Amino acid sequence: MHLILLGPPGGGKGTQAKILQDAYGLVQLSTGDMLRAAVASGSDIGRKAKAVMEAGQLVSDEIVIGIISDRIGESDCRNGFILDGFPRTVAQAEALDAMLTERGIKIDGAIEVRVPDGMIVERITGRFTCAKCGSGYHDKFQRPKVDGVCASCGGTEFSRRADDNAATVQSRLDAYHAQTAPILPYYEKKGVLQVVDGTLPIAEVTKRLKEIIEGAKRG
Ligand code: AMP
Repeated sequence: MHLILLGPPGGGKGTQAKILQDAYGLVQLSTGDMLRAAVASGSDIGRKAKAVMEAGQLVSDEIVIGIISDRIGESDCRNGFILDGFPRTVAQAEALDAMLTERGIKIDGAIEVRVPDGMIVERITGRFTCAKCGSGYHDKFQRPKVDGVCASCGGTEFSRRADDNAATVQSRLDAYHAQTAPILPYYEKKGVLQVVDGTLPIAEVTKRLKEIIEGAKRG
């Protein structure tokens, strides 16, 4: 199974990709996570990407296409993957097509998790993750059961992303509408685009995504 999750930043793609990864044994491929790891490691790519990410703009196609093409070739991707945050431009979508054709892989679905702009700022500025295991939480929508303690691993330290602030969110939304939304018709024309209402509760969105996956499995 090879899926693409599309939709605005803060729309829940990462949360859902993690749930589907565990449910179906697929690998979540998040270019945002890969770039943050590159920034943390201080690599060449990380140094180039840091300021661009902090400004809420898109890192160059060349860099992200290179990262994803290396990653897709790794052995854990053989059972399938969920792309989360890639492609984000038409050039990336075309490069992805070429990579997949070369490997004989076909996309089973490109799913837009649709959330209106008005809900995005609150969603993004409230989110935080466990510093130890990476479990995601939200100040309002998904607090840990015991305040200050991660429900998954018991960790007590949490972190927030540098770009999850109100000023940067607006730039990220602008980039989404100008550069990423044009890839929706690209997948629609291919007949693989489906839309899920991302304003629903997390479990409800998961249910709909699973229905789409089960439908794709049946062919
Ligand atoms: P995300 O974690 O998906 O919200 O991505 C965080 C940031 O990483 C974005 O705001 C971009 O600066 C950068 N980024 C992630 N994926 C891509 C991509 N496919 N193309 C360009 N920039 C990306």
